[in-house]
Amino acid sequence: MKIYLDPGHGGNDPGAVGHGLTEKEVVWTITTHITSLLQNNYGDVKVKMSRSQYEGRSLAARTKEANSWKADLFLSIHCNASGGMGNGYEDFIYHQLAPWSRTAGIQQVMHKEISKAAGLRDRGSKSADFHVLRETNMPALLTENGFIDHPGDAAKMRTNEWYRQVAEGHVLGLEKAFSLNKKGSTSKDKYLIIAGSFHNKEYAQLLSATLHKASINVSVSKVHIQGRNWYRVQTPAFPKRLAAEMHLQGIKECGIKDAYIIQV
Ligand SMILES: [Zn+2]
Repeated sequence: MKIYLDPGHGGNDPGAVGHGLTEKEVVWTITTHITSLLQNNYGDVKVKMSRSQYEGRSLAARTKEANSWKADLFLSIHCNASGGMGNGYEDFIYHQLAPWSRTAGIQQVMHKEISKAAGLRDRGSKSADFHVLRETNMPALLTENGFIDHPGDAAKMRTNEWYRQVAEGHVLGLEKAFSLNKKGSTSKDKYLIIAGSFHNKEYAQLLSATLHKASINVSVSKVHIQGRNWYRVQTPAFPKRLAAEMHLQGIKECGIKDAYIIQV
């Protein structure tokens, strides 16, 4: 899978500031930790970052690049500020998405892992009309990792340990939400989704093309059942049922209401 990692702000735009810290630097460190954890531990992940360490980049340039790269997820990393009043962790998806949308499912899984790992107050899962959430063609999540102008949160941002924990929370969330396989793990695939079965190969290919347009990874496989050939439109196998269920949601959102999970 392709993950577009977006450390917020950069260049002339420091983002939030407080206690001698700047958001652009804090989120840069979190993002590079996430990148190396993903690249070192998972075999099937490609990562692209929206900016380099000192570079500034417009929001439009970032979303445009993620769209043309055809990322499977846009993950934007930020931290918050509120005049010293607020503290804690929260994350956002686009405000017009339904609570049962695939993106909301991804948010739920990732929120649980990040809020646990970051050791910050849990402010909950939220939605908003942010550019990077609205203008992306793929599921997009924006995480707000603590308040840079809050003394308690800012103190955490001064420890290497905290960056490692926050990055691990993001990566574990990604692993669970997208069924990422750890390098060297001999995973036994267990669940796959059948989106449809047809005698006519063309129908199967049409359905497969429709799902591909919605960024759902399926293939057509030929099976022989009771003397007849069937063309089955199916996803790759997921090691965890939860991951299969989340993908099933996405497929149902494309109008394939009778898609179902089988154990293999
Ligand atoms: Zn920000």
